[in-house]
Amino acid sequence: MERIYLDHAGTTPAHPKVIAAMKPFFREKFGNPASMHSFGQEAAQAASEARESVAKLLEAAAPEEIVFTSGGTESDNTAVMGTFFAKQKKGNHIITSAIEHHAVLHTCHFLEKQGLAQVTCLPVDSTGLVDPEDVKKAITDKTILVTIMHANNEIGTIEPIAEIGAICRQRGIAFHTDAVQTVGHMPISVQKMNIDMLSLSAHKFYGPKGVGALYVRKGTRISPLLHGGGQEGGRRSSTLNVSGIVGLGEAARQAQLEMESEARRQTEMRDSLLNGLSAAIPELIRTGHPAQRLPNNASICIRYVEGESMLLNLDLQGIAASSGSACTSGSLEASHVLLAIGIPHEVAHGSLRFTFGRDNKPSEVQRVLEVLPPIVERLRAMSPLAQRK
Ligand code: PLP
Repeated sequence: MERIYLDHAGTTPAHPKVIAAMKPFFREKFGNPASMHSFGQEAAQAASEARESVAKLLEAAAPEEIVFTSGGTESDNTAVMGTFFAKQKKGNHIITSAIEHHAVLHTCHFLEKQGLAQVTCLPVDSTGLVDPEDVKKAITDKTILVTIMHANNEIGTIEPIAEIGAICRQRGIAFHTDAVQTVGHMPISVQKMNIDMLSLSAHKFYGPKGVGALYVRKGTRISPLLHGGGQEGGRRSSTLNVSGIVGLGEAARQAQLEMESEARRQTEMRDSLLNGLSAAIPELIRTGHPAQRLPNNASICIRYVEGESMLLNLDLQGIAASSGSACTSGSLEASHVLLAIGIPHEVAHGSLRFTFGRDNKPSEVQRVLEVLPPIVERLRAMSPLAQRK
């Protein structure tokens, strides 16, 4: 059976050039970059080249502004907690949005539950957009951080980051963005977009899992979460994951070469899937912004069916997608993102997300268009919700 992978927002397969670049760093070039000898210096040189590639991808002013981490979650935690602990004497107020990834939201709520931080969670409109005016209004004398994601991982909406960044810059407040879904997929300039901190994760753009980075603009103060040997300029102790970092650097280089043509190609597949499904399935709701959205993200809700049932049926046909609803200890929990854009609870359970990548072909869209409508029809025929309408 042909297997079709349409869950690239979940993770991506490593680029063949990434794997080739990483390989020598497991054995021949295994040195610790903190060591003075030639083994160490060889590894240090490779990490330094990777740092330059990541800095270039983000248009950062200097490679030293890149702090390597274990991925998106650690980068988000470091931005939020690191800022809080560095600036708590100045204030304790953090502004975020209702649709952030849990790596940001749960970290903010953790600080709040400890009685440390005060958190304002901004609403979004029905397309998932944060209004920059709301950010402006929420700022107080105690605000130390604004953290708003670049693009949402479920519905693909791209936020007005440059505008929000400009507001923060004007008020002298640190601005962080979780760009885990956009880095390597669309152009980013931390300079032009007024970004002080930015989270990225290698496995979302054809790099290895378990490695990422936090961009920290020169002069932006953060306290480290990991204390120890003082690596990464004291901002993140622990021996560098050299092979992973080399993989991240190569992924950044490949992204610069492929990003533009891939965005064009994936946008076409995304739109033909969305148009085809809308035409074939009644009572289908497209979620996210119609235009300001990730080139690879097609997200929908289908009334009267469970997302998980559709996923299982698609998987039986070799098609891998994802759903916003997660089966947690037996009870289906609706996605906080879908609820925040005003999708009713029962409709949110019927969510599906297809995310394209560099290996997908237009013929795979046709396959989904053949397979999904009959699955929906079959599930609706068994659904008490569909029969009650
Ligand atoms: N932020 C966003 C928007 C994400 O989509 C993800 C992963 O799904 C993360 C953060 C966490 O990244 P990682 O898996 O590298 O910890």
